Amino acid sequence: MYLSYNPFTQIVEKSFSITDSDELSSKMLLSFKAFNDWKSSCFQLREQLLNKVADLLEERMFDYGKLITFEMGKPISQATAEVEKCAGVCRYFATHAVNFLESKTIESSATASQINFEPLGTIFGVMPWNFPFWQIFRFLAPTIMAGNSVLLKHASNVPLCAEAIEQVFLDAGAPIGVFQNLFVSYSQVETVIASPIVKAVTFTGSNVAGSIIAELAGKYTKKSLLELGGSDSFIIFEDADLNAVLENAIMSRFLNAGQSCIAAKRILVHQDIAGEFISNFQSLVENLSIGNPMDKNTYVGPMVNQKALNELHKQVQKTIQMGATCLTGGYPSYDMTSVYMPTLLVNIPYNSPIWQEEVFGPVAAVEIFETNEQAIEMANDTNFGLGASIWTEDMDIANWASKSLNVGMVSVNSMLKSEPALPFGGINESGYGRELGGNGILEFVNAKTVSYFS
Ligand code: NAP
Repeated sequence: MYLSYNPFTQIVEKSFSITDSDELSSKMLLSFKAFNDWKSSCFQLREQLLNKVADLLEERMFDYGKLITFEMGKPISQATAEVEKCAGVCRYFATHAVNFLESKTIESSATASQINFEPLGTIFGVMPWNFPFWQIFRFLAPTIMAGNSVLLKHASNVPLCAEAIEQVFLDAGAPIGVFQNLFVSYSQVETVIASPIVKAVTFTGSNVAGSIIAELAGKYTKKSLLELGGSDSFIIFEDADLNAVLENAIMSRFLNAGQSCIAAKRILVHQDIAGEFISNFQSLVENLSIGNPMDKNTYVGPMVNQKALNELHKQVQKTIQMGATCLTGGYPSYDMTSVYMPTLLVNIPYNSPIWQEEVFGPVAAVEIFETNEQAIEMANDTNFGLGASIWTEDMDIANWASKSLNVGMVSVNSMLKSEPALPFGGINESGYGRELGGNGILEFVNAKTVSYFS
């Protein structure tokens, strides 16, 4: 069942039953038919659609923001910003898709040869709740601009967001079937992936579910893309600008109640500035405004649900039992449902859950390093490989560190963020493939080689 449930007020707004198999079959057929027209539509038409979607997102930013806040507890100011960002990604691909997909001429033994980029068919997205609009739009905008049709299985706790996204496409004039939301069960996910109509699957979410989806994609010989968890490092070298560091460390770790794949999950600070950083950081953490996510002044709202909060609390407690020091927080709010007190841990054992596992909540972990080489060693001591941010004024250190980090993305002197122009994705257990930018749009096209001989 798909359930719209507010984690803060515990109000259930609406429930949706699973799509029955006849309805699923007709939606898949519709997707196939829609693709057959959409694949030969001109770029101008696709561009008009995405720009219209962007207009509507901007007009409805506050309504959609409230929906996000209601269903998964993101503070309203962050939720409306998320919707605005979705308008941006639509405009970006509306403008740039035509260039990314332009045929490329290549030198070869043929008289002439080129690569043409053609749509694949229906692309199936299985998506998480933590950015319930952004995660969808960041694959939807390029995929639709490339001439594919899309089916979505959204997380079961954000059904109203899923419906709203489908509706915004219809309101913008999208041909019926180009984008459809499905309320499917796990077993129906296999039915969808198995269908010959579906040519590829893109997954964002946990490692456990990601490997199931990848296995299914392998079983049915479908291309897959995985955006999984992370344990990103945030490395503060000795000469870093501490004011900028502090502001970014707070944002990176505590936005969305810490429920972001690219949050600064392991903060590493040089020993000479560690004392100053930790005491200033602690006072900022203690002053974060927590509470009702519908209040525009709230910075840290509830976690997505009580189960996620309990799991986080277990990770924190076990890490403290193993010897870590908790400087602030470390417990759930006594009077607010699903709110975890912003927490700061130091002296963290490397074999503890906070260091070894993904920490998906408002808990900052700070460790001290003595040499720059040690910082990189600590940063690379993880099975994940999503991103990292590094802080230094010295570009030699920045270049050396960015080359030495085993990750898909590095940001120098800024927290790691996603933006439409920059390819986004990880390596190792953080997944494979890229979303966004030129690389992102090429994931779900057929790069067809055509050679002419005379
Ligand atoms: P999740 O539990 O893996 O769920 C993601 C999606 O997979 C949901 O739609 C879920 O459906 C579905 N799903 C789960 N198990 C499935 C199964 N056995 N068969 C078919 N579908 C299944 O992840 P989450 O808790 O929503 O998201 C948090 C995770 O996502 C974190 O690890 C985070 O780091 C990662 N994430 C990564 C990125 C990135 O870009 N790398 C971005 C955002 C989030 P139900 O809701 O119905 O269970």
